[in-house]
Amino acid sequence: MFLNDDIDKIKNIGEQRQKKLNALGVYTVKDMIEYFPRDHEDRSVITPIAEITPDASFGFIARLADKPSLTIKGKIQIVKARVGDGTGQIDVVWFNQPYLKNSLIVGRTYWFFGKATEKYGMLQVASPEWEIYDKNKKSLSNGRIIPVYPLTKGLTQKVLRGIIRQTLDETTEEINEFLPDNIIEEYALCPRRFAIENIHFPESDESFFRARTRLVFEELFLLQMKLLQLKGIIKRKKCPFVLEKLDPSPVLAELGFSLTKAQASVLEDIKKDFSSGTVMNRLVQGDVGSGKTAVAVAAAYMVISNGCQAALMAPTDVLATQHYNSISKVFGRLGIKCTLLKSGMKKREKASAYEDIRLGLSQMVIGTHALIQEAVEYNELALVITDEQHRFGVEQRRQLEQKGKTPHVLVMTATPIPRTLGLILYGDLDISTIDTLPPGRQKIDTFAVDTGYHKRLYAFMEKLIATGQQCYVICPMIEENEKNDLKATLEYTETLKKVFSGRNVACLHGKMKSEEKQDIMERFACGEVDVLVSTTVIEVGVNVPNATVMVIENAERFGLSALHQLRGRVGRGSEKSYCILVSDSKNKLSKERLSTMCKTDSGFEISEKDLRLRGPGDFFGTRQHGLPEMKIANLYKDIPILKQVQQAAVRLYREDSLLNLPENKSLNSELLGIFDKNKKNLAL
Ligand code: ADP
Ligand code: MG
Repeated sequence: MFLNDDIDKIKNIGEQRQKKLNALGVYTVKDMIEYFPRDHEDRSVITPIAEITPDASFGFIARLADKPSLTIKGKIQIVKARVGDGTGQIDVVWFNQPYLKNSLIVGRTYWFFGKATEKYGMLQVASPEWEIYDKNKKSLSNGRIIPVYPLTKGLTQKVLRGIIRQTLDETTEEINEFLPDNIIEEYALCPRRFAIENIHFPESDESFFRARTRLVFEELFLLQMKLLQLKGIIKRKKCPFVLEKLDPSPVLAELGFSLTKAQASVLEDIKKDFSSGTVMNRLVQGDVGSGKTAVAVAAAYMVISNGCQAALMAPTDVLATQHYNSISKVFGRLGIKCTLLKSGMKKREKASAYEDIRLGLSQMVIGTHALIQEAVEYNELALVITDEQHRFGVEQRRQLEQKGKTPHVLVMTATPIPRTLGLILYGDLDISTIDTLPPGRQKIDTFAVDTGYHKRLYAFMEKLIATGQQCYVICPMIEENEKNDLKATLEYTETLKKVFSGRNVACLHGKMKSEEKQDIMERFACGEVDVLVSTTVIEVGVNVPNATVMVIENAERFGLSALHQLRGRVGRGSEKSYCILVSDSKNKLSKERLSTMCKTDSGFEISEKDLRLRGPGDFFGTRQHGLPEMKIANLYKDIPILKQVQQAAVRLYREDSLLNLPENKSLNSELLGIFDKNKKNLAL
């Protein structure tokens, strides 16, 4: 059997199964062995019956002691058998499969896998998977890590597992390498045959991990190579600025904390960029609260200490103002002048800000997209920082870049997003990750409750307010209609004013004037306001360490990433913090989203889950970018591999862009094979 044979060459695949597999995109033997599992289940542990406990799943090997019994209760037929393994006995039970009474044979030994429960003082396992135990043969489904495949109707895991095993065993053609030898060697990739075998039937966690790394590498490599062939290498622009002084220590000394290892290493990346002679294009990604601002400030400081200007663009007035307040405090002590630019400034104020910027009197410019308005002229803009990039279009970023003579660019984001992804794959952004949080952060306890819980919730908030802590209440977007949302927010504020009658309750919404918003945020930041009722205008970036409670009403209306961003507003100080998600939704997906929030606080995990719940098309906007769907790579988790891939692909492209050299021939044909099939997907 050869790799390019149709799957009906595989034993046990008739017309029916062939059709079903075709529906999964599997046409050839090669497709079949490259039909990767979506998950694995660890069944490698075999538990002695004596050690089985209720309410968990176990795999065990046991002998059937007595003939199974069949009882009928109403419409339910129950087959029950007692099995034992020398350490103890347990009951196995099946429902509405009466034939099992005769399939299970007394005296034989079987594999079982299922969940144990306690019934009438006896442990039992309901509807376990089972198969005959043969001590001379390794089982496909038991006593090992087993693959879990994406299925289609009429195909079961067991069948698919069997088919794939058979295909692997019967393929006579070698599963050849197509990556050039030097790449395999340099990145210590495991052989392809090993990878394919172990992605399906891993020998151990470690071999699975090696297999996956290899397959992710090659998938991304093929994509990257194709993109390079289509677009060429984006030339690094020469940097017109000479940054001689690259010592951020004066500003670091003003921060009041020392950088985490992760922050320091990102700063090192930036320093290297600054001294490389070419223009920096760097994306810094780090979960909410990981301390991206400090890195940005240090980068800005280095530029400024060389006599140049830096600009920081934030997506909202509130955030820009907050950055201005905290950064100007630090820079003020170092004699660096900061200027805030945002919408709704008075004419005179604006004119004088423009003047300061134009003459270079102001070295650090902070603002919203007001930064890119035509009238703004910079003096020597050498660094452009955009915060929370996903709120900006690429276009806006580009406009700001055009304000300087090719300034360095630093993009900061808590969620790698479609555009970023596009840019990554186009290869013009380098990536640094802040992968740890500053020390002393506590986990934010998260609860999902319904509106029946309001009274207790208010009492809980009151208790914390009495100790001097502060709360956010995020108001629902009730309808598409902004006017009604505003009304609801105002009404809810009134309600809360009554509930917290002795407290200071304030409302913040998008329709307010900029000064009004700023005023409220300041009053909240200094502790004067106890409860801040807000629409999602505070979603990104805001930092008030004394706020410890985040209540989100109609939480089902928000996407996972938005919820995670909102939750990131608390847990910024030393006090224990809470996030309460209020929702009456009965919708299964919404419930799953909220329960994900309660279970995890990792931004990466949440993005991944978001991706799974929403589908890649929506999430990444991959359609819009013409990227093919990934079979195994996860564009969030696998960024470290993607980096290696970029490096390797660029090098190879430089050596042999058309892959004409003999040693690159099999890579070339693999590339053609894949992208021909997906031609219409790759509309780059
Ligand atoms: P984000 O990455 O979400 O933008 P911020 O930059 O707003 O995070 O930082 C969150 C909080 O953590 C701020 O209060 C900041 O002062 C604090 N912080 C940042 N870095 C450190 C550090 N290395 N040690 C202690 N606190 C830090
Ligand atoms: Mg931030």
